Amino acid sequence: MATYKLLLLPGDGIGPEVMAEVKRLLRFYADKGIASFATEEGLVGGCCYDAYKVSITEETMAKAHAADAVIFGACGGPKWDNVPYDARPEAGLLRLRKDLGLFANIRPAICYPALADSSSLKREVVEGLDIIILRELTGGVYFGEPKTITDLGNGQKRAIDTQVYDTYEIDRIARVGFELARTRRKKVTSMEKRNVMKTGVLWREVVGEVHSRGYTDVELEHMLADAGGMQLVRWPKQFDVIVTDNLFGDMLSDIAAMLTGSLGMLPSASLGEVDPKTKRRKALYEPVHGSAPDIAGKGIANPIAMLASFGMALRYSFDMGKEADRLDAAIAAVLSKGLRTADIKSDGARTVSTSEMGEAIVGELARLHA
Ligand code: NAD
Repeated sequence: MATYKLLLLPGDGIGPEVMAEVKRLLRFYADKGIASFATEEGLVGGCCYDAYKVSITEETMAKAHAADAVIFGACGGPKWDNVPYDARPEAGLLRLRKDLGLFANIRPAICYPALADSSSLKREVVEGLDIIILRELTGGVYFGEPKTITDLGNGQKRAIDTQVYDTYEIDRIARVGFELARTRRKKVTSMEKRNVMKTGVLWREVVGEVHSRGYTDVELEHMLADAGGMQLVRWPKQFDVIVTDNLFGDMLSDIAAMLTGSLGMLPSASLGEVDPKTKRRKALYEPVHGSAPDIAGKGIANPIAMLASFGMALRYSFDMGKEADRLDAAIAAVLSKGLRTADIKSDGARTVSTSEMGEAIVGELARLHA
């Protein structure tokens, strides 16, 4: 049995509460002899600022570089609103993304049948939905220079952001998209705005070249990003993997997220280049939600986004796709039995705490393994 190295970074607010359920899952895998994970833990965000006056220490960064995967909870909260800008809680997460070169952000939008009625769309539109938004995470308009606000001296100011993409950035994200699609329903939809943006023209060209160079077994479709947004709410099941840039990905992934109900249900993965030594990609897995200070410490947070993020680690870092499928099935089974944390509660369902939900999911997993 291989042993994988994990760095657990629970963070602030509900982060440690939902991370406790990942630890429960790790104990289960170890006890059953399914997989062995060597874990280290570190501070990130506000709790790290309280201890060391920085949002992440060099020691923790070194552990992140050495780990096979980083499992991140959430960070931030009003307590740290006035800390120096460079030490603000988010800076720790941004540093991890940047230093590990995590350019590919994978956000699945999965609608569990038991929760189809909590979507704002009709049941038949979302029930059984299983799509992925693949967002380029380290380039584009969020990072392009110049990025300025200039006082024009006539009572006007001018703000400039720069959308910039090089071939290699589009090439590598497209490859991740095609590889992902190969493990699924073999369809990639590339979204850009080639009708009004030069980066869109290059995006389409490069994605097309990557496709014809090595991925003709996967269907490739191009769509303007605005039309894509419309199609996402009209008939989302037409998609499999959507690959898009940083800005459009930010918006489209939030739209896709809301198709499925609560923030407490949404996992994510951020991947970097393949490490030549380990042959694995640098990777960080985290729920989409934040530290939820309004419910922190109450033991009522939904741990499913965190557990499903760990499921993505099984799938994308450890080649344990079958085990990830089992975890997803355990989550679906617990939901269909009517167990709900407060954020997804519904009539007739039993409201449970964070640890009761984690326990039920691991219990279901044990049944699936029996
Ligand atoms: P949030 O995601 O923390 O919370 C938004 C709402 O959703 C809250 O009402 C919260 O109670 C609820 N919620 C979120 N996760 C839940 C869960 N697992 N179970 C049940 N309910 C859940 O977003 P926010 O309130 O805008 O931000 C709070 C703090 O988190 C801020 O400091 C923000 O900067 C930070 N934040 C961090 C991350 C991250 O660490 N990646 C992401 C987003 C926000």
